[in-house]
Amino acid sequence: MAHTHDFDGDALASRLRARGMRMTLQRERVMHAVGHLVHATPEQIAAAVPEVDLTTVYRTLETLENIGVVAHTHLGHGAPSYRLADDDHIHVVCHNCDAVINAPAGLADDLAATLLRESGFTLDRSHFTVFGTCRDCAAATQVPQEKHR
Ligand SMILES: [Zn+2]
Ligand SMILES: [Zn+2]
Ligand SMILES: [Zn+2]
Repeated sequence: MAHTHDFDGDALASRLRARGMRMTLQRERVMHAVGHLVHATPEQIAAAVPEVDLTTVYRTLETLENIGVVAHTHLGHGAPSYRLADDDHIHVVCHNCDAVINAPAGLADDLAATLLRESGFTLDRSHFTVFGTCRDCAAATQVPQEKHR
């Protein structure tokens, strides 16, 4: 289900410049890892970019999130997972095997429209995760009838 995204290095550089920041090798590497890993915790990013230490990864992610090119999603109880900000989809996670399924963002259109209309609330649909049981895990827990004979 993993789809990797390539990020636009020029767009990142100009966004950094607009905030008076420079494109650095560390920022470029962290950004590249986020795009490549699709959803990754700071620890996973640090493991993928061994030349950048964990503290710098945290700081870099904070910078990239502040300028709006990276965002985070909560896929479980642990550390948040980082993704490219334009990665707009609903995260569906199996609480049994931890499989992450990217569902089309449009699935939440009705929910988003209703919340906005009735509560003035703007849904951040890529931020949250819908938990449940995936098809494989559901099938594994269903004992075929023949086995009972
Ligand atoms: Zn959050
Ligand atoms: Zn995602
Ligand atoms: Zn599962």
